[in-house]
Amino acid sequence: MTEQISVEEYAAKARVFLDANAEKKESRKKFVWGEGSDNVSMFEERSKAAEEDMLQRAKAWQAKRFDNGFAWITGPTEYGGAGLTVAHERAYNQVEREYKTAPLGVFQIGLGMVAPTILDHASQKARDLYLRKMWRADIVGCQLFSEPGAGSDLASVQAKAEKDGDEWIITGQKVWTSGAQFSDIGEIICRTDPGLPKHKGLTGFIVDMKAPGVEIRPLRQMTGGASFNEVFFNEVRVPDDHRLGEVNNGWNVALTTLMNERASIGSADSGENTMYTRLLEMIRHYDLDQDPIVREMLADLYINTKVAGYTSQRATDKMRAGQMPGPEMSIGKMALVNNQKKMNDLVAHILGAKLVVDTGEWGTYAWSQLLLGAPGMRIAGGSDEVMRNIVGERVLGLPKDVGIDSKSAFRDIKVGTQKD
Ligand SMILES: Cc1cc2nc3c(=O)[nH]c(=O)nc-3n(C[C@H](O)[C@H](O)[C@H](O)COP(=O)(O)OP(=O)(O)OC[C@H]3O[C@@H](n4cnc5c(N)ncnc54)[C@H](O)[C@@H]3O)c2cc1C
Repeated sequence: MTEQISVEEYAAKARVFLDANAEKKESRKKFVWGEGSDNVSMFEERSKAAEEDMLQRAKAWQAKRFDNGFAWITGPTEYGGAGLTVAHERAYNQVEREYKTAPLGVFQIGLGMVAPTILDHASQKARDLYLRKMWRADIVGCQLFSEPGAGSDLASVQAKAEKDGDEWIITGQKVWTSGAQFSDIGEIICRTDPGLPKHKGLTGFIVDMKAPGVEIRPLRQMTGGASFNEVFFNEVRVPDDHRLGEVNNGWNVALTTLMNERASIGSADSGENTMYTRLLEMIRHYDLDQDPIVREMLADLYINTKVAGYTSQRATDKMRAGQMPGPEMSIGKMALVNNQKKMNDLVAHILGAKLVVDTGEWGTYAWSQLLLGAPGMRIAGGSDEVMRNIVGERVLGLPKDVGIDSKSAFRDIKVGTQKD
């Protein structure tokens, strides 16, 4: 793969690769209401065996893409990337959409958030050790930020890391860790100096999720599934070369990750996805396509989804071009959850009681999984209220929070059950 390859040539190569390794979708096969699975859940409820099967299929497909130069298209060649442009990546994705391939959402946190942070902040040794393996899906990464007393106020984390020779010893609890149950490494933010103000005494590390002293306990959510966990660290040893950035500069490390998180959550679809098609067919099935209220709600949803998609695309393009995105990411995330709410309201308007009582009718009660999962997106990656604060302060220039606790030493602030 050379840097000179044109986008057209690259797309042609992609097609050759996909023809040889994946089955083409039947392009004329239209979605038919009542046929196939009616699953539209946001958080899949899977048995252990089904989760393992999904993971193995995703790993196999990602490894195949990587080995052929189609996994980390914009990544630096020294770590296994193809060193190409966003335009090449977009071209590949467009071609891949024509084929049936294993879903890769399971790598969203590891590749969308943790890997870019490793690339920006890790030691040469850690970059050499992990980036290629992560992008080849030999290993999976998770994000260990939130704690029972530190979510929106992430700078209040209390899990501590203490230096011991060439190692650090980590003790504390993290919570809401998506995918910890199948992750090999995690990016953790710990307090390394409680004598400094809360944003200043933090440090990031890459931690081995299989190391002695790491205990992972699943958390069941209201949809029935258990996609996230509590993770306990009991004197877990981490080598100093697994530190991310400078000691006590973990806030900047965390910001790199969060910036990428908002971008990946905010990448709203264009309104032509399966869910949207299902919704249209549902409207037709119930003979509501001439109903003025349904038409108005649908038009509102469609327009807003399209606009959000373009906004999020602008943010992603800026980041990939090495620029700092502006307010697009916060706005994109808020728009995504608002549009999800618009979709849910429309579904509830159409289905009414069928959404809460399982009558056995295809394509009705199944939507309750989506409605129950959707509130999670209002919280993940920065809650609605926090996003509004960001837009208010940084975009509209409203007065900032007084931040009375950001100047005192962390150990002097009363946070939850803090003992330091
Ligand atoms: C689906 C999902 C996946 C997640 N995955 C991960 C993961 O992989 N790793 C990880 O580390 N974490 C993860 N999280 C946790 C997530 O980052 C936190 O839930 C989030 O940061 C909010 O923190 P909290 O739950 O402690 O709520 P809190 O911060 O306690 O907030 C409670 C309420 O107070 C409001 N609030 C808080 N501060 C302010 C303020 N300054 N102004 C106005 N209102 C405010 C919030 O909007 C919210 O309504 C996940 C969460 C979800 C829902």
